[in-house]
Amino acid sequence: MKRRTLIGTAALAACTKTEADMNELAGRYVRLILDIGEHEPKYVDAYYGPAEWKPKGKTPLAELGARASALITELGQTKAADPGRFAFLVAQTRSALAYIDFLKGERLDFDREAKALYAVEPPKVLPSEMEAARAAIDAMVPGRGSLADRLAAFEERFAIPANRVDRVFRAAIAEARARTKKWIHTLAVDESFDIEYVKGKVWSAYNWYKGGSKSLIQVNIDLPIGIDRIIHLACHEGYPGHHVYNGLLEAKLVRERGWMEFSVYPLYSPQSLIAEGTADYGVSLVLPDAERLAFKRDVLFQEAGLNPKAATEQHAVSAALRAVKHAAIQAARLYLDGRMTAPETVEFLQRFALQSKGMAERRVKFIDSERTYIINYSFGEDLVVNWMNRTAGAGEAGRWKAFTQLLSTPSTPASLL
Ligand SMILES: [Zn+2]
Repeated sequence: MKRRTLIGTAALAACTKTEADMNELAGRYVRLILDIGEHEPKYVDAYYGPAEWKPKGKTPLAELGARASALITELGQTKAADPGRFAFLVAQTRSALAYIDFLKGERLDFDREAKALYAVEPPKVLPSEMEAARAAIDAMVPGRGSLADRLAAFEERFAIPANRVDRVFRAAIAEARARTKKWIHTLAVDESFDIEYVKGKVWSAYNWYKGGSKSLIQVNIDLPIGIDRIIHLACHEGYPGHHVYNGLLEAKLVRERGWMEFSVYPLYSPQSLIAEGTADYGVSLVLPDAERLAFKRDVLFQEAGLNPKAATEQHAVSAALRAVKHAAIQAARLYLDGRMTAPETVEFLQRFALQSKGMAERRVKFIDSERTYIINYSFGEDLVVNWMNRTAGAGEAGRWKAFTQLLSTPSTPASLL
């Protein structure tokens, strides 16, 4: 009875906030995120808001926790004019509070940490499903030796020679850019990004958004890069992935509407599920299956100096490998929950995610560094697929219209469910 009374009081206190009130709360959110970033620099993935909001020093975590809690309470007493903006700020601030607890040393198990930071329950991955996916691919790659060895030999045949990676990557970007610009007309005319090749990173590529429609895209060349990987990177990091997503948020929300909360991007937050999910989904949107095969055969294989006659065979195996995409989530769950050692996780990734030893070792380093972030890719893509299937109109134009809307409006994982 008492609880009901309290809820009633809170509901009475809720009032419709003006745009100015919301902007004030949004400014507090931005400064909270920037202050958390003083404790872990990776947390602030991008910031191009006012320079005077940047912290002058470290604020104790206890104080940041109190600020996050107060902001959540005030948001709870708020009824914003724009429900999408409101839901975004609430989800992001709740996650920020969970990340402050993480920085204080509090540890949750895999599923609870993923829920606290990314506002979703990661999928269960059944051993029987992983075995079935593995068996289907086993039948596609004939020859002697283990499936891992056969796949490694297969992938070696289609690796891009190191001295051709840049020209193949640029050809893939040019195609993805032209196709994206055909459908998304709200991108800044002077948008562009620089490309750098790096080594010794836990990721395979990274988009650093600089504001003003400019990005820096870094590509890790520690390991050989295959044809499909290079397409994936061009679309995921560039068009219509991270570079486009950040550019549209800046143009439509920060510049047009003055919603400064979008001028900062906290990496370990629900926004990353939207960012990675749309970036992965964008690969198949911009290059649907048959067009992707044709582009590989007619352009990229030539640029890479590979035999285009093998493109169909390469494409079939590459497409089948998508069936094992959730295996990395299960590997991370078992590893972070202490149910597998690092060497066992490498073996698991080789067996079920069908990764080469080098890639599996890099993936374990990624999990060590980024933890439950790994759910944002394949599971984020699943949520975007479901949302698109529900929302998008028929045909290519309908899909691009819905996708552009998703990239240009405040979204939360809950709004995709
Ligand atoms: Zn990404």
